[in-house]
Amino acid sequence: MGDERYRCKHLVLVASPFQGHMTPMLQLGSVLHAKGFSITIVHTKLNSPDPSNHPEFEFLPLFDNFVAIDASTNFTKFVEVLNENCKLQLQQRIQEANHKKITIIYDNTMYSGEEVARNLNVPSIVLRSCSASYMPAFLALPKLHSEGQLPIQDSMLQKLLIPDLYPLRYKDLPFNNTSTQEITEMLALTNPIRNPSAIIWNTMEFLENSALTKLQQYYKIPIFAIGPLNETARCPTTSFLNEDTSCISWLDKQAPRSVVYVSLGSLATMDKKELTEAAWGLANSKQPFLWVVRPGSVNGSEWIEFLPDGFAEEVEGRGLVLKWVPQKQVLAHFAVGGFWSHCGWNSSLESISQGVPMICWPFLGDQYVNSRYLTYVWLVGLELEHLERRVIATAIRRLMVDDEGKEMRKRANDMKEKAKNSLCNGGSSFNSLNNLVEFILADYNCN
Ligand code: UDP
Repeated sequence: MGDERYRCKHLVLVASPFQGHMTPMLQLGSVLHAKGFSITIVHTKLNSPDPSNHPEFEFLPLFDNFVAIDASTNFTKFVEVLNENCKLQLQQRIQEANHKKITIIYDNTMYSGEEVARNLNVPSIVLRSCSASYMPAFLALPKLHSEGQLPIQDSMLQKLLIPDLYPLRYKDLPFNNTSTQEITEMLALTNPIRNPSAIIWNTMEFLENSALTKLQQYYKIPIFAIGPLNETARCPTTSFLNEDTSCISWLDKQAPRSVVYVSLGSLATMDKKELTEAAWGLANSKQPFLWVVRPGSVNGSEWIEFLPDGFAEEVEGRGLVLKWVPQKQVLAHFAVGGFWSHCGWNSSLESISQGVPMICWPFLGDQYVNSRYLTYVWLVGLELEHLERRVIATAIRRLMVDDEGKEMRKRANDMKEKAKNSLCNGGSSFNSLNNLVEFILADYNCN
């Protein structure tokens, strides 16, 4: 149980409207509330969390003037305007709430939280919900850009390793297919030196020790690696979309570790041709599958109108296609034996936490780096080279049936144990969380 003395200390958590950022922020809120802190979640109206799922938090909405996330065209611009639209209100809402002794913890995409903290003269901490291994690649972008290596030429993409960024290839770089103009904008936005007093990272030391050490040297402020938050937080659903729980009774009827679960997260999209290849790849693999196709994620259609003729008949009784599912529960289910994923960091952590090996098909941002580490360093996943039906069916058989997949499952289970241990008394994430609590309290006398 939390220490009631800490209730005098108020944490203002500035959340981001991206699903993959909102989830770890709410999880962090639950973890810190369990430690005894009072929690306020400041959030955009776009993709608001449901307060009824978190009666222990206070919620303060900001009017962001967006009706949808439009990050597919220009992520940087979207984040910039989001911060511009929210900064003043953020400061006003915090002042109106009039809590004493606050610390602001902001999501890295809501970086205006930093400026507001400075204006209000209160401490601030940033939450990073990407992998630590991604950051060295991100931080290398200015140099690669000034050397004229960005955007990357097709000839460099495939196999070439990037000097000083082992084991990353040019194709693993974030924003590897982004235009020069957007890269310039992004670098301008990320360049100003921001000055939080610490960083909270949703990762574990055993997994990303080397990247965390590099980052510690680079940032020169405390870094608290307290993940995986998906395992520590006692948090009900954090999904923006309704979770279709009918998949659980369907999974109950499947053989142990026979089902491949497919989800490409909350942002990735595909076109009709890619959907068709994915569909036939799944059908031809002959494995049972649970496939999440998010509404609107197939360009030009509302949901699954573009599924090819004959697919439904071919996979009847063996395949289930749904709009959104309770992913943590799905990955924990005995019937799930593999996860075809876009390698978002939350999905990667959730899969590792359940010992489920992966097929990796990254789409954007840190997902390329995550995929490289999952497949080449941690050896718990295999890389899907092409979105082509034969390649997909072969990858699924390799993961679900072949000895290669069994070895990956063994390693994934080892990682699951290590992740669990890092959260147990004396484990690295357990200790980091306690250090974080002490760090927050250090400025205040809460006795
Ligand atoms: N998720 C879910 N149900 C689904 C698909 C995804 O609950 O049907 C959750 C998943 O558990 C994860 C989040 O959505 O916590 C996606 O975050 P991630 O970082 O993996 O990817 P992003 O959506 O940011 O690309």
